[in-house]
Amino acid sequence: MREIIIRARRIVLGTGAKIENGYIAIFGSRIKEVGTWRRNVPTSRRKTFDVGHSILLPGLINAHSHLCFTGMVGMFDPSKGFHSWVKTITCEKNKWTPDKFLRSWVTGCQMLLESGVTTTLDVVSVPELFPDIIEVTPLRVIPFLEVTGIKSRIDPDQTATQVRQTILKWQSEGKLVGVSPHSPYATTPRLLRSLANAIADLEVPAMIHVAESQAEFEMFLHADGPMYQWLARNERDMSDCGGVTPVQHLTKHWTKLQHTILIHANYVTDSDIQTLAANYVPVVHCPRSHKYFNHRPFQWHKFTKAGIPVCLGTDSLASVTPKTGGATPKLDMFEEMRTFADAHPEVPPKQIVTMATGTLCKVFKWAKRLGTITQGAIADLVVVPDHVPTADPHESLLYHTGRVTAVMINGQWVFHPNEPI
Ligand SMILES: [Zn+2]
Repeated sequence: MREIIIRARRIVLGTGAKIENGYIAIFGSRIKEVGTWRRNVPTSRRKTFDVGHSILLPGLINAHSHLCFTGMVGMFDPSKGFHSWVKTITCEKNKWTPDKFLRSWVTGCQMLLESGVTTTLDVVSVPELFPDIIEVTPLRVIPFLEVTGIKSRIDPDQTATQVRQTILKWQSEGKLVGVSPHSPYATTPRLLRSLANAIADLEVPAMIHVAESQAEFEMFLHADGPMYQWLARNERDMSDCGGVTPVQHLTKHWTKLQHTILIHANYVTDSDIQTLAANYVPVVHCPRSHKYFNHRPFQWHKFTKAGIPVCLGTDSLASVTPKTGGATPKLDMFEEMRTFADAHPEVPPKQIVTMATGTLCKVFKWAKRLGTITQGAIADLVVVPDHVPTADPHESLLYHTGRVTAVMINGQWVFHPNEPI
């Protein structure tokens, strides 16, 4: 197998560190060497790509997506409140055919690849589409099987057993798979406990939407508000509501907390933050979705000060506002980073880029070779033109718009640096 060398004027390592005039040597699917370019770097018998005035960085990690909702861009109106949005998207989902979900999913994968994402943690609402279609994209899709269920006539143990069987099947095919009980409000304590019991002996990462909206916070803390009323009308047993925050509810009923990624966490108390920090639970922030719903400011400083890892995700295009007079939005982690930077101008660019690259690998064993450029890491790489060459390449990355120049996944070019994407 021939080695590959990529030389670039600037390399961002995904940890906040950078190299000027550097190179990476790749053997097979792994990074073999990283360093500053020097005359005696051996290049014979190695295929060398010089990407010139570009920034080379680890492939971006999208820590939360719903690829099968990509086609729902611009369909909903957030002004009537979060619970109303959930109601509308649930109705729309029921009208969609498997084929429509599939096309939406494939379009989403392509958008992510073109914008430099090499790994996405995707919530799978239509499990029958998997695992075969995962083979149709070079994107590393880590599927998280969605679980919902609020009506008491469906036995939670039966649901949990089915989920376990699906996970075991996927694992037997060598796939990394996770589970996503949707949220405390779209499940019940019994379902959360049954599910956690059913997968207690399995190494399964989990992802759950928690404390996304004010309505959810009110539902659990005060047993009141529009979400409480709506779910009560829909046969959910509301006896778990009143006197607890959504995070407290989760810690009480979900015993897999230490394997869990918390999505959103927009409405949390200081005590909730301490609980999450004690369990080293990472939080995924989705800046454009956050802006779409006009949530209260995201508590980045408090999370970071408490030692909670914060990652970035796109969520789905069903919660991204199309720009007035602009093109239809696409899934794009550069847009997410830029939206975060606009809302938090005091956060250094290198920390913003790290949230989209190397943060997750510090938390989970299954992610430890992803998101950074280091010896032994998986060779997932992206080349971005250095059009705004500020002193810090992390800052330059925040100005990047549109397609990236090249993408490599697992040591294989998906978009070659010498060919237009
Ligand atoms: Zn989501």
